[in-house]
Amino acid sequence: MHWADVIANTLIERGGKHLISTGITPSGSIHVGSLRESITANAVYKALKDKGADVDFIYLVDSYDPLRKRYPFLPECFEKEVGKPICYIPCPDGCHASYAEHYITPFLNAIGELGIKPRIIWTHKLYEEGKFTEIVDLVLRERTKVASILGEVTGRKMPENFWPFSAECPQCGMFSDKITGYDFPYVHFKCHCGYEGDADIRKGEGKMPWRVEWPAKWKLFGVTCEPFGKDHAAAGGSYDSGVRLCREIYGVEPPYPVPYEFIQFKGKGQMHKSTGNVVTGTDALLITPAPVLAFSVLRYNPERHIDYDPGMGILDIVDEFDKVEALYFNGGADDKEKDLLRAYEIAQPSAVRSRLPLQVPYRHLVSVAQISDSFDGVVKVLQRSMSIPEISGEDMEVLEQRLGCVRHWLNAFAPEEVLYTVSQERPDVEITEEERAYISVLRERLTETEWTGDKIHDAIYNTAKERGMQPKVCFLALYRLFIARRSGPRLGFFLSTLDRDFVLKRLSEA
Ligand SMILES: [Zn+2]
Ligand SMILES: [Zn+2]
Repeated sequence: MHWADVIANTLIERGGKHLISTGITPSGSIHVGSLRESITANAVYKALKDKGADVDFIYLVDSYDPLRKRYPFLPECFEKEVGKPICYIPCPDGCHASYAEHYITPFLNAIGELGIKPRIIWTHKLYEEGKFTEIVDLVLRERTKVASILGEVTGRKMPENFWPFSAECPQCGMFSDKITGYDFPYVHFKCHCGYEGDADIRKGEGKMPWRVEWPAKWKLFGVTCEPFGKDHAAAGGSYDSGVRLCREIYGVEPPYPVPYEFIQFKGKGQMHKSTGNVVTGTDALLITPAPVLAFSVLRYNPERHIDYDPGMGILDIVDEFDKVEALYFNGGADDKEKDLLRAYEIAQPSAVRSRLPLQVPYRHLVSVAQISDSFDGVVKVLQRSMSIPEISGEDMEVLEQRLGCVRHWLNAFAPEEVLYTVSQERPDVEITEEERAYISVLRERLTETEWTGDKIHDAIYNTAKERGMQPKVCFLALYRLFIARRSGPRLGFFLSTLDRDFVLKRLSEA
């Protein structure tokens, strides 16, 4: 059974309503690994829905968290913003209402494209609207007990005078944890800037620390399941302290945990060629069609680590997806493959299609995209080279999405060896006499060959064999002649994407 169904069954056995929760502090561009969290949460949500359970799904944007440091991507003037809540720091590019919005918006758009649509909740608003008031009051009154739980779980010595609260200073805008007293609803504090005064816990004038706030959200919303990075799941980590705070302070049961492993980069080309940045979640979706990306996460158990190769690895990921897709529609999957089919099903941003979609291999699109600039041009080339007579509207959409990803990949992450241009003039390359004779015979043959990848490949290969030549030598000569390189795409298919007259003319120029 697929892991999402296993978790859903466990949750159903526990009974009641279900609430899946996930979230992030948007302090910078969001790493592709964070997409795993949303994809995992959404899978459990979908599995529960499929089984008819009463389930809701929320995404908490931790907008009230302070900026921890001036990250390398921030201008120097952001030095003065460190320590302030990110919902009140300006957008670094001036295009959003706040710092938090600037970084969360592209991420929410990205998960939207994956068909993941949780209810979005902003943590700073929860505080402002007084949603946390009762809980904050409780932890302030029970602060000694809270401190001893945190001390026991983490093994760290807690400060003598621990208060599970930081006040937001109205003078400097930063959080201060120098609390000197509490009398509902006011927390008295002294700030390092010299300000001394009261923070009203009903009005969002301060917040709980992370380890206390996380389980406070479980309590507030009634969260029953939450995926989180394995660092939080370590012994003594924040899930452990959350469990104890839930049971001993908040009087609720903690959610069912789904710890997940990180996504690691593999291979070369993990840097964006023009920005020099690592691949973000948004980049991953620009180069990998949404259902393919979701599938490549869902096929593995959350506890297994995933290598993500934004270079040549993308081609294999798409091929693998196409294989499973074909199996889904054509049948014949064995027991082991059934989980892959379920992963395919859950990975769809909307309903599964009624029949096998048009599958144009990514590898083919990589060549076609470099020959034709327009979508119509690409469609024409594909129809000719793959003998596809008609392409349905739905398939056009799939194709357009794929082509968009391929083009982005070529610009941003594709390794040098797959980039080439077909020059309109014969490139200045050496062709030997023997090769020239071969090319001349091949040219004759190609005037009559059916213009498809396979047939052209056969013509190239058989002509070489008949002349007692190494096919490899002939392939290399043709690469030189067409793209002035020593290697290239699959030659038969590649030539079939070019116009026959153009190919014949170039061959005659050899
Ligand atoms: Zn912005
Ligand atoms: Zn201050």
